[in-house]
Amino acid sequence: METNLLFTAALGLQPPWEVKSLEFNAHEHRLDILVDFQRGASFPCPECGTPSKAHDTEERTWRHLDFFQHAAYLTARVPRCKCEQHGVKTVDVPWGRKGSGFTLMFEALIMVLVGAMPVNAVARLVGEHDTRIWRVMRHHVDEARAKLDFSEVETICVDEKSYRRGHNYLTFFMDLDLRRLMFGTEGKDGRTLSAFVEDLKAHHGTAEQIRDVCCDMSPAFISGIQAHLPQAEITLDRFHLMKLMNDALDAVRREESPSTPGLKKTRYHWLRNPGDLTKSQKARLKELKAMNLQTVEAYQMKLLLQDFFEQPNRRAGGVFLNDWCTLARASGIRPLVKLAGTFQSHRRGILNWWRSQISNGLIEGINSLIQAAIAKARGYRNPQNLITIAYLIAGKLDFNAVPTRNPLPT
Ligand SMILES: [Zn+2]
Repeated sequence: METNLLFTAALGLQPPWEVKSLEFNAHEHRLDILVDFQRGASFPCPECGTPSKAHDTEERTWRHLDFFQHAAYLTARVPRCKCEQHGVKTVDVPWGRKGSGFTLMFEALIMVLVGAMPVNAVARLVGEHDTRIWRVMRHHVDEARAKLDFSEVETICVDEKSYRRGHNYLTFFMDLDLRRLMFGTEGKDGRTLSAFVEDLKAHHGTAEQIRDVCCDMSPAFISGIQAHLPQAEITLDRFHLMKLMNDALDAVRREESPSTPGLKKTRYHWLRNPGDLTKSQKARLKELKAMNLQTVEAYQMKLLLQDFFEQPNRRAGGVFLNDWCTLARASGIRPLVKLAGTFQSHRRGILNWWRSQISNGLIEGINSLIQAAIAKARGYRNPQNLITIAYLIAGKLDFNAVPTRNPLPT
């Protein structure tokens, strides 16, 4: 029948496969395409390629791209071949991969959609359960990741992200040269480092090749890096230092505010850059600064610390850090004294900035992508799905293999 030939061509089917018949159900908005193989055809063994005749067949159905508003399904009896070496094997069909109920074209469509909208929305749009969408995604992300080569990576950044209202954590490892997400795993303890090294080895890398790691002051990360990345020098993230400074400043303000009503609701006056304040906020800050307050003293120490990274070299940075810590201790203000102790015990990692010049700021772009991925993964069901979405969006993966492997044009 003419139409069958037309559909055979439209689906890109090659002999021995051809469209045998079409069942169009306008009422159910469904098109069934029945595909079959020519009588007497032989098929290659999926293991060794040796051709043999069909031993028996098994009927299977795949969802294909919609035909206008009609859901299209492809049904075929799939032969099983008897190979002398490998026994009875189900042959590969050109339009779909083993274990999937979707054609490759349909999977390619899913991969395009999940890059652009939340998985739940994709599931609704194509009328499939979201667990099936996740499964397709994970398959193609894993397949694309398997081809990655990490053998050249020397500089990485480790960062944790919270999810589920901050009660759970994922740790992400990023390649700072190529600005891509390399690896994500659950938790935020030292074990994340050994998991990273395993993954590195699975992608042609070794633990010894990593020379620089940027991270925050998490003791688990620091001891994990020392244990698992023997050649790595740690650079502590400068933005994290400022965050600790801001935390200390706010702690001072909170301690002081019960006795100083003027400090109430001024958190952001102190934390924001002076240039970002409104006129009235500036005026308020000026008033407060004229008062004899510990908060003011802590604020001056913060402004001073901002000059730290303006120092021309590591030596000047070291002198500056010593002076800052001396002043902080002399103030006798508890959060500042504590911060000086933290800075001194992480001195080497802090001063490494002048050598490596790396900071989490470099990966801000990837970071916001991962953040967006987590937001997009609403209803993600399990943390591995969150990581999969992050790979998809920030991993710079190559998905070309998906639609071109066995093209089925529409
Ligand atoms: Zn075989």
